[in-house]
Amino acid sequence: MDFSLSAEQQMIRNLCREFAEEEIKPRAEEMDRTGAFPYEIIKQMADLGLLGLPFPEEYGGAGADFLSYCLALEEIGRGDASVGITMEAHTSLGATPFYLYGTTEQKERYLAPLAQGKQLWSFGLTEPGAGSDSGGTETRAELRDGVWHVNGAKNFITNAGTDMTGGVTITAVTGVRDDGRKEITNIIIPKDTPGYIIGNPYHKMGWRASDTRPLSFEDCQVPEENVLGAQGTGFHQFMHILTLGRIAIAALSVGLAQACYDESLKYARERQQFNRPIATFQAIQFKLADMAMEIELARLMYYKAAWHHMQGEPFTKEASMAKLYASETAKRAADQAVQIHGGYGFMDEYPVSRYWRNVKAHEIGEGTSEVQRQIIAKHL
Ligand SMILES: Cc1cc2nc3c(=O)[nH]c(=O)nc-3n(C[C@H](O)[C@H](O)[C@H](O)COP(=O)(O)OP(=O)(O)OC[C@H]3O[C@@H](n4cnc5c(N)ncnc54)[C@H](O)[C@@H]3O)c2cc1C
Repeated sequence: MDFSLSAEQQMIRNLCREFAEEEIKPRAEEMDRTGAFPYEIIKQMADLGLLGLPFPEEYGGAGADFLSYCLALEEIGRGDASVGITMEAHTSLGATPFYLYGTTEQKERYLAPLAQGKQLWSFGLTEPGAGSDSGGTETRAELRDGVWHVNGAKNFITNAGTDMTGGVTITAVTGVRDDGRKEITNIIIPKDTPGYIIGNPYHKMGWRASDTRPLSFEDCQVPEENVLGAQGTGFHQFMHILTLGRIAIAALSVGLAQACYDESLKYARERQQFNRPIATFQAIQFKLADMAMEIELARLMYYKAAWHHMQGEPFTKEASMAKLYASETAKRAADQAVQIHGGYGFMDEYPVSRYWRNVKAHEIGEGTSEVQRQIIAKHL
């Protein structure tokens, strides 16, 4: 057993840590307050190769391994959760489907500009009536004379409407399977397709500078070749994409938990009450000790899930455990961070109030905590 990171993994982690510290963290409060999408930061990240980390160099990616990508997410998420989720949704949900299931032509056409960070891409699975029950898709795609006619609606779609967005890959019902269930296929829809309607951004509790919108499709027509992989394999594809994405969300959650810990330790050493720093009170020390311990465990859990994936071994249970534990660790860390800051923690002048709002989405996106527990239970 070897817990050490390779020289390349350390290099990517350090680069992202420095970038987050210098370029992201100082702008995080303003991004949260204004909700403005961080185009400038995303451009800088593209220039550093951070938007295509786990993809091969032949498609403009950085050729890094999956753990390196997760290490990068942890550090970017430590700087700011909105920037972190923008990177994660683009890479794990937007670009990875092209990498795993695209034809050579689709990889050249769609994956390359995404891996180079020239465009963002989104993944449209969730619908008004199909959330945790993601197979409950109502959006339909009908193939007529070599053209897919898409009708339906998606909601809560990340990166769906930025100026850099190239389009969305959606799940759609394309028929009925032999067993009577819906046949689901993934269809690629570029943003400029007539009938692709981008809704207004949601007003969110957290992740405010990330782009989240509803989308709808009104007789949106794309050519037959815009199918991703084989017709009818959409359900299998997105299940795998989400499982991989859960390791990435775990890494983001560890980054957020770490940020909570960093701020809490600093504040506890500075804040004086009863003529001593509050860090000298055992009650505060125990909170910090619990945070440090849980963060370490959550980090090891996402490392291990990533490692299983990189070995080509099953990792579904490990990914769900990592996502569940890391997001709940971040939730507890954010809660204790506000507590350690007392009344000041309730004020937006301190970053911990933002962390407390941001963390909630980690327990919901890419499968709620309840869904993760169901998946784990199925593997027992
Ligand atoms: C900020 C944000 C960004 C998002 N980005 C994307 C994106 O880019 N693409 C995309 O496709 N989706 C995206 N989502 C959607 C996200 O994946 C869903 O919100 C999530 O899967 C839950 O679905 P739902 O919101 O419809 O909740 P529901 O499924 O309605 O769940 C409501 C509650 O019921 C519980 N529940 C549901 N079913 C069961 C069950 N069988 N047993 C026990 N409890 C159950 C849930 O755990 C939850 O607590 C995003 C969501 C958010 C908040």
